[in-house]
Amino acid sequence: MERIKEKCSFCGRSKKETAILIAGIDAFICDVCVTQAYQIVTEELAERKGGTVKQELNLLKPSEIKLHLDEYVIGQDEAKKVLCVAVYNHYKRLSQKNFKIDEDTEIEKSNIILVGETGTGKTLLARTISRILNVPFCIADATVLTEAGYVGEDVESILARLLQAADYNVEAAQRGIVFIDEVDKIARKSDNPSITRDVSGEGVQQGLLKLLEGSVVNVPPQGGRKHPEQKMVAIDTRNILFICGGAFDGIDKKIARRIQSQTIGYTTSKETEVIDKENLLKYINPQDLKSFGLIPELIGRLPVLTHLDPLDADALKRILTEPKNALIKQYKKLFSIDNVDIEFDEAVLDFIVERANEFKLGARGLRSICEGIMTDLMFDLPSDPSVKKYKVTFEYAKARLDKLKLNHLKAA
Ligand code: ADP
Repeated sequence: MERIKEKCSFCGRSKKETAILIAGIDAFICDVCVTQAYQIVTEELAERKGGTVKQELNLLKPSEIKLHLDEYVIGQDEAKKVLCVAVYNHYKRLSQKNFKIDEDTEIEKSNIILVGETGTGKTLLARTISRILNVPFCIADATVLTEAGYVGEDVESILARLLQAADYNVEAAQRGIVFIDEVDKIARKSDNPSITRDVSGEGVQQGLLKLLEGSVVNVPPQGGRKHPEQKMVAIDTRNILFICGGAFDGIDKKIARRIQSQTIGYTTSKETEVIDKENLLKYINPQDLKSFGLIPELIGRLPVLTHLDPLDADALKRILTEPKNALIKQYKKLFSIDNVDIEFDEAVLDFIVERANEFKLGARGLRSICEGIMTDLMFDLPSDPSVKKYKVTFEYAKARLDKLKLNHLKAA
């Protein structure tokens, strides 16, 4: 039989010219061509994956998104509605771009800012919505961002994280959602830009502008600046949806002051009579963000502003039991794996909620409190086959927590 010449069947290099030549049934491939082929396959598959994401997105209407959100997030109806509409419009805008329905009207991007106390569900909302839509998602903390050149993270690092969340699929990353937490912490300390040299937060706000408005940013793919030899990846942020969140402690006073000054002179208008003093965030508007210290340019690029309500005892109790991955459901599941049917006295749930309220951490405190109560049981019950059923009583829960002293949880 005629011997096939030992050269790469793809590029024609002879065996001598290659580092490795792999033999197939009646062909060869060299190391360079294998690598190239691998890249082509990866890119092609990623593109296809991106394509399916796009299609799924178009299917969901705002009310459908909300129904899904309701499964995971308790209350916050106002924020949910605003968020669903903004997200729907955002992805509608993308589809319009792709299919060129109308060339004249360009729908502007609707980045979002969520204002609400800590632990009320801001991150949860953003994360859940990205999961529903099946788009890459990442969280960035505004407090670790610095102006270029300072020690800390560059604004670009946010996109590096998104790219990572997208499995390095640039197309998918460019349609992702970025949640920027604690955006209130980069507020400048004074509403007056000329006062002293308080530029700390302002510089970071300026840095964020270019991300939010939509520009092409060169992103170090992996490991940041530590590997300068790596090729930068260009990411277009035009279609990335940014959701910013912050507690904006003290903004209620600014809102109150504004409402007061607006209503003076209008006297007995009905509006002033029904103002809900307990939840002034309801009335938040962009002007209040400016008084708090966000620069107008940044506010302008976050056109959708909404608030989250503080969680009352009823909401906290529902959070414990109702969402798809509610804590109580999780414990039941964990114990059921060990064939133990675990029950909770109603009084235990009320007790947990009461303690969480004391800590003023919104729903964030629930988990640590539950862990405090449950750790011993999770330690002991799996090795005691005689226990098939267990009821956590109020006395047990109280004794556990009294022993633990979870005071470190208290908000400062
Ligand atoms: P933040 O508003 O500070 O971003 P998170 O969204 O991180 O708060 O909430 C912290 C945790 O509390 C979440 O992981 C979730 O388990 C729970 N949680 C907070 N708010 C809600 C809510 N409205 N519905 C259900 N769970 C919630």
